[in-house]
Amino acid sequence: MKTKINTMANEAKPRINVITLGCSKNIHDSEVLMGQLRANRMNVIHEADTLRQDDIIVINTCGFIDNAKQESIDTILQYSELKEQGKISKVIVIGCLSERYKPELEAEIKNVDSYFGTNDLPDLLSSIGADYKYELIGERLLTTPSHFAYFKIAEGCNRPCSFCAIPLMRGKHVSKPIEDLVKEAKYLAKNGTKELILIAQDLTYYGLDLYSKRNLADLLRKLSDVDGIEWIRLQYAYPSGFPMDILDVMNERSNICNYLDMPLQHISDSMLGSMRRGITRQKTIDLVHAIRDKVPDIALRTTLICGYPGETEKDFEEMKEWITETRFDRLGCFTYSHEEKTHAYEFHDDVPEKLKQDRVETIMGIQQEISFDKNQDKVGRIYKVLIDKKEGNYLIGRTEYDSPEVDNEVLIDSRISYASPGSFVKVKIDRAEDFDLYGQIVKI
Ligand code: SF4
Repeated sequence: MKTKINTMANEAKPRINVITLGCSKNIHDSEVLMGQLRANRMNVIHEADTLRQDDIIVINTCGFIDNAKQESIDTILQYSELKEQGKISKVIVIGCLSERYKPELEAEIKNVDSYFGTNDLPDLLSSIGADYKYELIGERLLTTPSHFAYFKIAEGCNRPCSFCAIPLMRGKHVSKPIEDLVKEAKYLAKNGTKELILIAQDLTYYGLDLYSKRNLADLLRKLSDVDGIEWIRLQYAYPSGFPMDILDVMNERSNICNYLDMPLQHISDSMLGSMRRGITRQKTIDLVHAIRDKVPDIALRTTLICGYPGETEKDFEEMKEWITETRFDRLGCFTYSHEEKTHAYEFHDDVPEKLKQDRVETIMGIQQEISFDKNQDKVGRIYKVLIDKKEGNYLIGRTEYDSPEVDNEVLIDSRISYASPGSFVKVKIDRAEDFDLYGQIVKI
């Protein structure tokens, strides 16, 4: 989304045009970079519609799996071509792909001005004539609609998941101090943010490094006390060692959404073992039951991988039966990507690409039916909805059970009733499809 805060004087300066690829953590990092540039009175914009010859393009890349890496490489090539044509002035590449493949990129794509990793903000800033401002803790330039913000509580990951390259790019787990996070939340709330979407590589590991204990529950209470924050959402929880006390806080505090995103990746013991997930089939099933017992109307989102090395037809059948039984509220599924320097890279990537894809489609087909079914139960009910945007004749919003970009949306015919983006309304659902709900505003 285009974000621009500049004065006339600034307009005359070379423009720094930030392009963000990848996940919500990259969105957060781009926003921090842009906050620093703005504080240095630089002319900064996010994904401008048109290019300028004096544009300094900063591409925040993703290096997670094949598709994402290809998108990052294509974007670098696209802008280095434009530089060749004199349509922009500089190309700077940052983020995960650069962290992971800097030597290769420098050798392959030479007309990029510089490459920086995931932890090089001060160097990056000084390379474009800016100073790193430590006093700006938590201050950033949002690229999401201002009423919600991705809220990164930690960096890196200590887990040994065999398929995952993230620790190679993001390093070890580092929790941010509670005081800094509360300060950041207050800054965001003062600037109109109503929803904090808590993110990390492993949210539930929070505090173990800093406070020698899992401390997410304490953090949640502190954030929940911040005036103006109406929704707090949890993404990227990890199953093993799951801190059940966060569910007590969820029940205690009405501004913590009854929503939990917890990637589980698989269910067969042989796959979970080989993936080094540190949890078994039975423990996973027990955990899901325990979570639903504690917070009965919680919306559970998970993510699965199909086609991991050695995945048999029997393993896959087990996954199908399990998701049919468990009926997750939200589910995403990806094909296994054979990533260098990960533990699984030593294994034979024996599941053919077509079969991986077929398995993903089968899982998503089952989930589509489950989602349709579950959505029918919502018809006739009234939900608190946060309006995100207007598209055509429709207002698009979300309930507390839906995260932006990945979950269900609530569509409201704006010719019948209207509310501005960023506002909370009550909506009565009158129709439901597999991933969308339709309704009308009943009270503002
Ligand atoms: S917890 Fe997530 S980020 Fe960490 S290694 Fe496992 S899959 Fe990767």
